[in-house]
Amino acid sequence: MSQICQLILIILFSTIYGCDKIDSNNIEPEIIYENNESGLYQDFLTPYYYSSNNESFRTEINKFIHFARLTEFQHPIEDSVAQMPSYSINRGFGDGIGPGGTAQHHPAIDLHIENGDTNVVMYAAYDGYIHTVRDAAKYRDYLSITKDIKDSLDNTIGKIVTIYGHIDLNLDSLDNRLLNGQFVNQGDIVSRHLYSGTLGGPHLHFEIRYYRPSNVGNEEYYGWSGGSITYTEPSAGSWSYGYWDPNTGYGFANPKNHKIE
Ligand SMILES: [Zn+2]
Repeated sequence: MSQICQLILIILFSTIYGCDKIDSNNIEPEIIYENNESGLYQDFLTPYYYSSNNESFRTEINKFIHFARLTEFQHPIEDSVAQMPSYSINRGFGDGIGPGGTAQHHPAIDLHIENGDTNVVMYAAYDGYIHTVRDAAKYRDYLSITKDIKDSLDNTIGKIVTIYGHIDLNLDSLDNRLLNGQFVNQGDIVSRHLYSGTLGGPHLHFEIRYYRPSNVGNEEYYGWSGGSITYTEPSAGSWSYGYWDPNTGYGFANPKNHKIE
């Protein structure tokens, strides 16, 4: 191909594709279909998935996110009469710079209690089974709660997991809270103590994960510490819902999409 032809092609290509920088943080996903009985769902996916995955995969993920978002949460530090300590979100969903200056996925929000108090009552966001872990590398102590996600025909299509990180299970144990394996109802107290030594001061790292059927019940992932998952997926920095790892079948949800902010 002659150089002049190549040049024309490049100009043509950049005219079509070059100017529209997609920032999905600022774009509400377009509603394609609202009727979930049709098998088509609101489109939640980032541009990465349009280039790398087929139609049926995208439909499956959109269906999953649709039903996951129907799960109503209680705010993790709001009590039954809707009171909560004053707090600020010092690190939001997707913020942060990782090792080597790469964009790092902070797949959570950090709720800092304004006076730096470690005595903070935290509540189950929904019903489910508790899994507690001590001294995890990223989270210090944390607990997770798992709930099934059902479609309109009551089929289990995956699980939703909330993670309450940087808590102090030693102090919780002194308080006779031995929660591992217990079933809790939404609004039950799951912890009364934040860890005091967290960088930036005591805060609740609140994280929401969605699990597709390929990983249902695999609790190893609840303690994710980096492992084989890369921080810099092609969609990193511009996701509006979290990102999916197609190999492991889980993704992170923005707490805002469950009215937690
Ligand atoms: Zn955090």
